Amino acid sequence: MDLSLRHIRHSYDDVEVLRDINLEITQGQIVCIIGPSGCGKSTLLRIIGGLERPDAGEVLQLGEPPADCLNPLTYIFQDFALLPWRTVEGNVSLALEDHRLGAAETAAIIEDVLARTKLSDFRAAYPRQLSGGMKQRVAIARALSVRPAVLLMDEPLSALDSQTRELLMDDLIDLWEKENYTAAYVTHNLAEAVRLGHKIVVLSRRPGEIREIVEIDMPLSARRADNPELEAIQAQLWQLMRDEALAADRELVDV
Ligand code: ADP
Ligand code: MG
Repeated sequence: MDLSLRHIRHSYDDVEVLRDINLEITQGQIVCIIGPSGCGKSTLLRIIGGLERPDAGEVLQLGEPPADCLNPLTYIFQDFALLPWRTVEGNVSLALEDHRLGAAETAAIIEDVLARTKLSDFRAAYPRQLSGGMKQRVAIARALSVRPAVLLMDEPLSALDSQTRELLMDDLIDLWEKENYTAAYVTHNLAEAVRLGHKIVVLSRRPGEIREIVEIDMPLSARRADNPELEAIQAQLWQLMRDEALAADRELVDV
């Protein structure tokens, strides 16, 4: 299933947040959305997921979600959003509880996603026993359990230290190599965007408008942090972001 965003606009009261966003999210691609703090990235992701209704414009779903899909648009948040009193398995099963599946089917789905996210040995652990990286793996497993058509990730690695971020990026890349999932991935981290994005969308400062869309052809598995081509793209993105961040900074000082 592809998503097509057409002329999305949004304001909170009289503060204009998003201005005429047009974007295609193509099946099998990771689309990274970057932009300075406060420019409307999370708002855009909430609009894509239907949690917020835009003032104008529409999000079209083109084509069918997977036949066994339980929740076409599924979120992964920065803060993991796990229930502390439930085990790993219990947190993953949470997403399935609304769907009236049989016990055997639920067990099979859980088994499958725990294996895919390398969590099988941790099924009985509680969140407090897990590192940040493992907690986010649980949130990823929970999201995958409903077989989404599009994964919506809002700064999923921002609460993690840099080594753990690297490991999780490798996991997301491995998983993409195997499953070609579709994702909209919000981040303010340019290194993440050039490692994970087939397409990188740069938003301006608020009101967020698309300043540039950069496509990267290189296969995800071939992308290394020190690759010169990626470094050049990252530098180009930083030029764009720097101008916007500087201007945004000045606006705050003016208020
Ligand atoms: P980002 O994720 O890029 O940092 P957000 O989408 O969270 O930006 O927010 C964009 C702007 O909208 C910010 O100025 C923020 O304060 C404001 N905003 C976000 N959510 C709300 C809300 N529910 N009510 C009012 N203002 C909001
Ligand atoms: Mg945000």
